Amino acid sequence: MKKLIIANWKVHPKNTAKARALADATERIARDHRAIEVVVAPPFPFLADAGAVLKKAVLGSQDAWWADGAYTGGVSPRQLKSLGVAYAIIGHSERRIYAGETDILIEKKVRATLDAGLTVVLCVGETERQDGEMPARVGQQLTTALTGLTKQSLKRLVIAYEPVWAISTTADARGAATPDVAFRARIYIEKTITSLFDTRGARDVRIIYGGSVTPANVASFLSEGNMDGALVGSQSLDPKKFEEVVSHAAR
Ligand code: PEP
Repeated sequence: MKKLIIANWKVHPKNTAKARALADATERIARDHRAIEVVVAPPFPFLADAGAVLKKAVLGSQDAWWADGAYTGGVSPRQLKSLGVAYAIIGHSERRIYAGETDILIEKKVRATLDAGLTVVLCVGETERQDGEMPARVGQQLTTALTGLTKQSLKRLVIAYEPVWAISTTADARGAATPDVAFRARIYIEKTITSLFDTRGARDVRIIYGGSVTPANVASFLSEGNMDGALVGSQSLDPKKFEEVVSHAAR
């Protein structure tokens, strides 16, 4: 299976013209590195413009609400699908922290997004870099979000392990985790999904790493960390850097 590299633009860039230019540059990167599956997740206002230029790269969203109807400000998975969105990031730590999203809300979003036929990128990760934090927090996040899903839907599930302390924009960020930390998280995530479903179900789920991924460290997360890909924030806003990330991932 191709390695998956997801560009998470967060609340950037500032306007549509810049978003189009960034989407264009990212599409060229995806075309030049066909061994990698590149997903681009712009903010909602730029989805249509980015979608118009992305052909080889796949369109993703940074969130999805859990229903159509009277939910002012929401954007539903079905609406996203109608724009050509194929992947939706759900439960990013910045939504958990700044928008107060709970594990229960995230479970609803995961279920609705899978039901609409999209692939879910569920973000999990501990806030503090302390012994025992990863299994305690990640176990709870996975159990709440995944219990009750059909085994069939696991084929459209990606888990992004993002220790919050490693995300570049976290106030007291300590830099990327080590590949060994990512590897241990991967084993734990696989074990948890196996206990919720079975070994085969766990094998269907792709597990990627996020948090200060750069051209210099991406290859080690994929090889030593045994990750299926990476979720890339700040480095995805600079096409030169993102090209280097993708090309190192392709080696
Ligand atoms: C993220 O927030 O998903 C992320 C991975 O950000 P960064 O690469 O900037 O640490």
